[in-house]
Amino acid sequence: MRYSKLFGKTIKDTPKDEVSTNAKLLTRAGFIRKEMAGVYNFLPLGLRVLNKINVIVRDEMNKTGGQELVLSALQNKENWQKTGRWDSFDALFKIKSRYDFEYGLGPTHEEVLVPIVAQMINSYRDLPLSLYQIQTKFRDEARAKSGILRGREFLMKDLYSFHADEEDFNKYYEEMKKAYKNVFTRCGLEAIQTEASGGAFSKFSHEYQVITDAGEDEIIYCPGGDFSSNVEISPVKEGKQCVLGHGPLKRAKTIEVGNIFPLKTKFSDAFGLTYKSKEGKDTPVIMGCYGIGISRFMGTIVEVHHNEKGIIWPESVAPFAVHLIHLGGVHAYTSEVYEEVYEKLNRAGVEVLYDDREDVSAGEKFADCDLIGIPVRLVVSKKTGDKIEWKRRDEEKSDLLSLDETLKRLKR
Ligand code: ATP
Ligand code: MG
Repeated sequence: MRYSKLFGKTIKDTPKDEVSTNAKLLTRAGFIRKEMAGVYNFLPLGLRVLNKINVIVRDEMNKTGGQELVLSALQNKENWQKTGRWDSFDALFKIKSRYDFEYGLGPTHEEVLVPIVAQMINSYRDLPLSLYQIQTKFRDEARAKSGILRGREFLMKDLYSFHADEEDFNKYYEEMKKAYKNVFTRCGLEAIQTEASGGAFSKFSHEYQVITDAGEDEIIYCPGGDFSSNVEISPVKEGKQCVLGHGPLKRAKTIEVGNIFPLKTKFSDAFGLTYKSKEGKDTPVIMGCYGIGISRFMGTIVEVHHNEKGIIWPESVAPFAVHLIHLGGVHAYTSEVYEEVYEKLNRAGVEVLYDDREDVSAGEKFADCDLIGIPVRLVVSKKTGDKIEWKRRDEEKSDLLSLDETLKRLKR
């Protein structure tokens, strides 16, 4: 991709109406544009990051046997009344049509999916089943000041699992804990599995919390990694000695990037979701739900991985693998070399953002490169001759490499 053609350029000034680091940096770097409070547009760079995250999330969900589908955003009021949530779900956007019909604008998808599953499940042979979607959700959030961390419109993966009994549910729940760990590690974040209350449905749930001062949540956790609990419900206090000898428990601000939840038979009961057991008895299906806030996750990565110059994307979710810069203008004797390097990288399947601008200073190009935060910067200039300067965004040192050596390093 040529930077000169890229839709969504960097801007120098910090947007005045943003207070959060993620929104400031992502806006300045050309990843997002605000529509209004809590609602953002994702420009090509931003979409590339969301898609990278989605590839990893899909891979891990598919490995647990999850099947992807797409569900409706405009939702049936009657089904929301059946679960009692038409009145009790505070953040539900309710839409009135010009024909006086009312709809819910999907903040979550149990009310859509469970009635469909109820039509398809007959016998114990149809279970277990796990279905997921990655879709835009809508919530009438009270506060929307933290950029893409808390949106009124945001992208979420949610998966719903359906089981014949508690034992099968528990097995899958444990499998999902591992899948979640994989997702977050692969995306370059450490998310602490944290005990939380189960809300209306069950005694417990688990949240995946990332430590950063930008967070709205707080956890009490063991530095040795064997315990973490949301402060809202924590049975223990900060400073208490860890029973396994890891020292005093710590308290930290965190962002919840995902959560997993037993739903028991709450929705199965509402929609008559039962199956015939081996003995021929109608039995309610046990459910679980598993969410990841995809767009919040992207914002969290920025909150954790940045410095005063800009974003520092982990390789797995970076919009491009390398940021190629040429210095010296089109009349410099090396101009053919620049194009050749760009072409060869492309042909080798490397995702390149190529700053091909002629009328921009070296300083400006470097600043933009640091702001955008692609993991590897490659510079070709008169000074580098037939070599390429390699520098990682997260390191100060640079190396001079031949094109072959560059490609070899990128393969690693
Ligand atoms: P929170 O406690 O932050 O309000 P929640 O517990 O209500 O979120 P769920 O309904 O379980 O969240 O949604 C699953 C995931 O979706 C959350 O773990 C979070 O990462 C993300 N999420 C929830 N609300 C928002 C929002 N308004 N904007 C962006 N992401 C969100
Ligand atoms: Mg929560």
